[in-house]
Amino acid sequence: MSLEISTAGHGIDYPVPVYGYRRRFTREVAFGEIALGGYQPIRVESMTTTHTMDTVATVAQCRRLYEAGCEIIRLTVPTEKDAENLKNIREQLRRDGIRTPLVADIHFSARAAMKAVEFVENIRVNPGNYATGAKFTSDDYTDEEYMAELDKVRTEFAPLVRKAKELGVSMRIGTNHGSLSDRTVSRFGNSPEGMVEAALEFARLCEEEQYHDVLFSMKSSNVRVMIQAYRLLVARADAELKYAYPLHLGVTEAGDGDEGRIKSAMGIGALLEDGLGDTIRVSLTEDPVNEVPVGFAIVRKYNDYHLVRGDNAHLPVKHVVEHGRKAAAHGMLPFEPFSYARRASCRIDGAGYPIGGDTLPRVETAATASIADPEGLKAEILRRLDPERPVDSIRSEFVGISIGSVEDLPVLEQLLASLGGLRDRIVVSTADTALFSWLLPMVSRARLDIVEGESLGADLFDAIQGPGAAVELCFIHENSSENVPAEILSHLAAKLKAKGVQRVLLSVMSNRPLYPVRKLALELKKSGIDYPVAVRYRQRVGDRSAVLIESAIQTGTLFCDGIGDLLAFETGLPADQEVAIAFNILQAARIRMSKTEFISCPGCGRTYFELEKTTALIKQRVSHLKGLKIGIMGCIVNGPGEMADADFGYVGSGKGRVSLYVGRECVEENMLEEAALERLIELIRQNGKWVDPA
Ligand code: SF4
Repeated sequence: MSLEISTAGHGIDYPVPVYGYRRRFTREVAFGEIALGGYQPIRVESMTTTHTMDTVATVAQCRRLYEAGCEIIRLTVPTEKDAENLKNIREQLRRDGIRTPLVADIHFSARAAMKAVEFVENIRVNPGNYATGAKFTSDDYTDEEYMAELDKVRTEFAPLVRKAKELGVSMRIGTNHGSLSDRTVSRFGNSPEGMVEAALEFARLCEEEQYHDVLFSMKSSNVRVMIQAYRLLVARADAELKYAYPLHLGVTEAGDGDEGRIKSAMGIGALLEDGLGDTIRVSLTEDPVNEVPVGFAIVRKYNDYHLVRGDNAHLPVKHVVEHGRKAAAHGMLPFEPFSYARRASCRIDGAGYPIGGDTLPRVETAATASIADPEGLKAEILRRLDPERPVDSIRSEFVGISIGSVEDLPVLEQLLASLGGLRDRIVVSTADTALFSWLLPMVSRARLDIVEGESLGADLFDAIQGPGAAVELCFIHENSSENVPAEILSHLAAKLKAKGVQRVLLSVMSNRPLYPVRKLALELKKSGIDYPVAVRYRQRVGDRSAVLIESAIQTGTLFCDGIGDLLAFETGLPADQEVAIAFNILQAARIRMSKTEFISCPGCGRTYFELEKTTALIKQRVSHLKGLKIGIMGCIVNGPGEMADADFGYVGSGKGRVSLYVGRECVEENMLEEAALERLIELIRQNGKWVDPA
C-alpha cells in the first residue's frame, strides 16, 4: 500500500461545475426511516449539549430539536456507559412518537462505539483519534511504524464496520482539522491533504468489508481550510473509491451570533454552490435549537432546485464522476480549489484609499438618500464614512451615490466641494454613457452600470482614456446565475488594457454574484488582465438574517477563493449593519482581520462549564484585540486539538476547572475557573499581545 498522495499543484482535477449549480449525485445512505444523498433533500442536523447520562435533560433537548424541525440529532458518547444510556434515551423518544434518526458521536473509544451502534441510526467516528488518539507530538513515523498503527486501527475498526453493516446502521467518517492522528500529521501535515488521507484510510477499510453506507465530513474552524479539504476529498475519493459517498458539511467552532452564522453560511454555502453536500450542521455556541432555522435558511434554496427523481441511486461512482466531469469541462479555473492564492491585481491609487494589489479588500456601501435631497445625502455620507473614527475602524471606506441626468451635475459638484477631502471616497454611478463621460473629470471614481445587451460606443473609450477618475465598469446582473456577462466585460477590459489605460476596476452587481464573478475572473485570467475586481452584493428585499446568510455565501466564497479587491453592499439594511456584515465576511474568510477571532465550540455532553456565559464574558474583555485568535473550548479531550490555530486557548478540563493554552502549549493546567479569565488576560499581556481598549 502506497503512503504517498499526489499533491503536485495537487495535480488533481476538481470534478464539479463552478459556474452554475449542479448537485453532485451521491449514493443514497440510510438514516433509519429517512435517507440522505442521492435525490434526497439536503438534511439539517444538530447536536445535543446535555450530558448523555442525563436521560431527562437529553430527551427534553431532543424534543425541542424535533419540534424545531431538526431532521437528525447527534449525541456525544464519551464512554460505554453513555453508549448504554442511548437505549433509554431512544426508548423514551420513540414512546413520545419522536422518530428522528439519532447519531452517536464517538471520539477515541472503540468500546463506546461498539455499544452505541446498537441504539442509533448512524455512528460518527473521528479517524484522527479512533482507536489511536493524538498525542500532538511531531514524532516522525517510519513506514513500518505507520503501517503498524494502521493495522492496529484496522483490527479495532473492522468489528465496528461489520456490526454496523449487520445492523443496517450507516457511518460518518468525520475528520476534523486539528484532531488528526500523529500518524497522519507526521506524514501529511495538519492540512487538507492530511484530513483527506485520514478519511480515505477509513473509507478503504469500509470498502474492504463491502460496507458502503458511508458518508464523510471534513470540518475545520478555518473556513478556507474546510472548503479546501472537502473539495480535495471529493476529487480524490471520486477518483479512487467505489461510490460517490454523501457529504455532511459543517464549520467547527464557528462561535455565536453573526460571526458564527456568517462562518457557517460561508463554508457550507461555498460547497453547496459547488453542488457538494447532502446534510449540514450549523455549529453555534448557543442553544442548539438556534442552529436549526439557520440550517434550513442555508439549504432551502438548494432543496428548491428541481431534481428529477430516477432509480439510479446506487450507480457506481464512475458514472457519477463521468457525469460531473462532463458538466465541469472548464479546464482552467480562476482560483485554486485546494489551496489559497489571492488573485493578482494591479493597484489603483489616487481614488480615496488604494484598491487592489496587495492592499486589503475595501468595503463600500451605497447611500440610500437621493441627489435630489443633497442635505440628506451629505448627512448620510458622513454617517457612513464616519470620519471621526480612526483609520481602519469598522466603517464604510467608500460610499456610492448615483445620478440620472445632466441636471444632477451642478448639485453633485456642490456636494463634492462641501465634503472636502472626503470627496475622494465618493463613488458616483450612472447607467448613462454620456453622463458617465461628463462625470470623469469631476470625481475620483466613476462607475458605469452596464445592463446586459447594451452596446458601448467608441467615444466612451476615448473619454476613459483621458486623465481623471478611476473607472469602474460594472455589469448589472440580477436574479440569474446563468447568463454570464463576463465575456463582454473582459472584452471591454482587454480594449482598455491594450490602450494602456490604468485605474480600471471591474465589477458585477447582483444578488448572486458568485458564478458571474468567477466567470469574469476566468475571462480576465485567459486574457492576462489584472485589473482589480469588485464584488457587489445587491439585495434590497429580505430580512436581515436572509441578507446575512446569502451575502456570506455569495461574496464570502469568492474571497475564500482569493477573488475580490473590494466588497460592496447595497441592501435595505441600516448602514452600520451592512458594514458589520461586510467586515465579518472578510474576517471569516481570513482576508481582513478587523477584530478578535473567537473559535468557540458549541459544547456537548463533555462540557462542564457554562460555555455561552463564559464565551460572552471573555468576549467582553478581549474583543478589542484585533487579529488575535482565541479558542474557547468545552473539553480537554477534543478542545486543544480542535481549536487548531488559536493564539490562546481557554479549555474546560473538568468541573470548575480550566486549562489555558498559549498556541499549542498548555501553560496552566486545571486551574480554578474563577481565576481563569484574569490569568488569560495576563498571558496575553505577557506575550505582548495586549492593548488597552480605546
Ligand atoms: S470541544 Fe466542545 S463540542 Fe467538541 S467534544 Fe469538546 S466540548 Fe464537545
